[in-house]
Amino acid sequence: MTINQSGWRPEMAASGTATGAPTATGNRALMLEEPLIFEIGSADRTGVDLEQAPAVQNRLGGMERSAPIGLPGLSEQETVRHYTRLSRQNYAIDLGLFPLGSCTMKHNPRLNEKVARMPGFADLHPLAPQSAVQGALGVIHELGEWLKTLTGMAAVAMSPKAGAHGELCGLLAIRAALEARGDARKVILVPESAHGTNPATAAFCGYAVEDIPATAEGRVDLAALQARLAVGGPDCNVAAVMITNPNTCGLFEREMKKIADAVHAAGAFVYCDGANFNAIVGRVRPGDLGVDAMHINLHKTFSTPHGGGGPGSGPVVLSEALAPFAPLPIVEKDAAGVFHLIEEETAGQDHAQNFGRMVAFHGQMGMFTRALAYILSHGADGLRQVAEDAVLNANYILRSLEDVLDAPFGGSGPCMHEALFSDKGVAEGFTTLDIAKGLIDEGYHPMTMYFPLVVHGAMLIEPTETESKAALDQFIMALRSVAERAKAGDEALKGAPHFAPRRRLDETLAARKPKLVWEEAALAEAAG
Ligand SMILES: *Cc1c(COP(=O)(O)O)cnc(C)c1O
Repeated sequence: MTINQSGWRPEMAASGTATGAPTATGNRALMLEEPLIFEIGSADRTGVDLEQAPAVQNRLGGMERSAPIGLPGLSEQETVRHYTRLSRQNYAIDLGLFPLGSCTMKHNPRLNEKVARMPGFADLHPLAPQSAVQGALGVIHELGEWLKTLTGMAAVAMSPKAGAHGELCGLLAIRAALEARGDARKVILVPESAHGTNPATAAFCGYAVEDIPATAEGRVDLAALQARLAVGGPDCNVAAVMITNPNTCGLFEREMKKIADAVHAAGAFVYCDGANFNAIVGRVRPGDLGVDAMHINLHKTFSTPHGGGGPGSGPVVLSEALAPFAPLPIVEKDAAGVFHLIEEETAGQDHAQNFGRMVAFHGQMGMFTRALAYILSHGADGLRQVAEDAVLNANYILRSLEDVLDAPFGGSGPCMHEALFSDKGVAEGFTTLDIAKGLIDEGYHPMTMYFPLVVHGAMLIEPTETESKAALDQFIMALRSVAERAKAGDEALKGAPHFAPRRRLDETLAARKPKLVWEEAALAEAAG
């Protein structure tokens, strides 16, 4: 462990370093080592110079703090440096290609950021009078119209704050529709390959979750689904099917229309996980395929920083059948062009069947402005090209690496926006984890690992559409080299990453026994 600059004491000079760097400081050139903030600051120091507070009678009624607060005292400069040094150990889409499958780590155009920071959007109060925020309401309304047009759906709920929150919204709308017809069904069918949020959402809503098997080519087994739905009458009990299209194997569910017809014939609803909409936006309208509810991860399909970098937003589009049950609030535009934020239903008339609210206010305004800026700057043709280029880039990766990495569904035709490989063919004792760690040494954030679960040692790679051919070629070269080392059984790969700020961590221990509270003893242990 090396203590950097502000917390450095001369006796630390000989203590060795976690990085094994052959330098006196433990730093490697301009890559600086960084300990915890508790290790560089101490509770008996303070970074501010304030006069002693005069003794006053407090009004806390015996609730005042009795022990010291125990926070490390640092000056502003020391604090800024600590977090800046930490940020330099992070990987970001603004540093390089970020191949994390399923997450859609896209370039975030700076135009979006500029628009989101305009004071008229950024500094709004959610309780401001509607007459004073017509522009913001207009943004929510216009974005909603785009989402309905792009998906071919009747209504949209803008307030859900992430994909998983949108799933909850969709299932609550489905439940409200079923209850309205006195038909409280209890089962949600979910394909084996689904994202974990799908069964989690269904269980959270109180539904029983049943698997739908996949075919050998990675798609929903239509015959098995039809057989399950053919259980007629009350025994069927299926409220909805949750399907991801394109699915998490990176494949388009070609039988979607037949699936939806079978589901509807059984009196159930089709929920589509729309997290992968970026692969088909401008090309396919899910409403035409019989979808009843679908969330759209604005932070994936329509850019905006996410994954530790910012909040999500998961508006849900709804079919005619579900539209009456959409949650409040709803932004409507009257004939005179004035926007109204509908927060209450009118008994027996407007929105009387809404199922309630998802959030206290109106949703993620900062995401709405970014998504609308993205949509307007691309235009309809530009959005179509987003999907086409995303698919082209993923297929380029799939076909460029399938001679060295096993592509389990490579024979199922082209993939959509992500390429899926398995660990078949790597040397005995080597795993997907070794390949991922090797990729860190090559300067890349690893791909998504071990997901989807239907593929052994899965590696799911989503390059996104803005990557140039040169960037893809360099990534392919890097992954090819690491894959070849894994196939040849290169022992050095098992110790990777060798050049990262930290070596291989015990991830199981970290997950099972996380150390969430700093203790002085832990520091002594680390130093000794
Ligand atoms: C990202 C993702 C989700 C969850 O979305 P969040 O915005 O992270 O809640 C659900 N399903 C799939 C397929 C996803 O890729």
